[in-house]
Amino acid sequence: MTEKKDTPVKMEDVRAKADENHCAVQKSLVFVDEFLSGPMCGKCFPCSMGSYETRIRLRKISEGGSAEEDIAKIKGIADDMLVASMCKKGKDTAKYVLECLESNQFNEHISGVCMSSECTSHVKYVIIPEKCTMCGDCRDVCKDNAIVGEKKKPFSSGYLPFVIAQKRCTTCGECIKACTYEAIECVPTGKAAESEPVGA
Ligand code: SF4
Ligand code: SF4
Ligand code: SF4
Repeated sequence: MTEKKDTPVKMEDVRAKADENHCAVQKSLVFVDEFLSGPMCGKCFPCSMGSYETRIRLRKISEGGSAEEDIAKIKGIADDMLVASMCKKGKDTAKYVLECLESNQFNEHISGVCMSSECTSHVKYVIIPEKCTMCGDCRDVCKDNAIVGEKKKPFSSGYLPFVIAQKRCTTCGECIKACTYEAIECVPTGKAAESEPVGA
């Protein structure tokens, strides 16, 4: 949960932080999160209530289980905020969310795809067999026991290749950092290899 700060947030800082993301949903979420981390005066209705609802629906879109209704509600709130907000902070937030909504990415997320791979619920980590040297470093760092495979030993053959059991993977991203051979990729759901190891 974001802690309340005593000092008002600077909107240029909020925009800069949001713009660090590529995913339109993450951009909006960061912007609204930052906006809500500052004091809320509560003077106008669409902002004081709507921004919290916007955050809930953005999280739903990012985490999965969302529907077109969520996009429509977010747009409706932003439209109202743009007209009714009495301060620049409220209007800037509405404008930013509306800018992000112009992208088709929101609809892609409803179908379970985050092309920027920034929404962890919409990605998979996969091992590229051609690049994998069977060193086992990824398996050593995976706290969820989601990687199966046998380390390569000299003068032996017939190893179980390294694969990620998607049902056990929590998309923490530790394995990709551990693989120095760039043999692990983070790909949008639906585009990943569907192969599951035996017993996964
Ligand atoms: S738009 Fe501005 S004035 Fe209105 S509730 Fe939000 S922060 Fe307060
Ligand atoms: S760390 Fe990389 S190269 Fe080593 S086993 Fe895992 S995927 Fe293969
Ligand atoms: S992303 Fe995390 S949980 Fe998934 S295989 Fe890699 S280290 Fe394990």
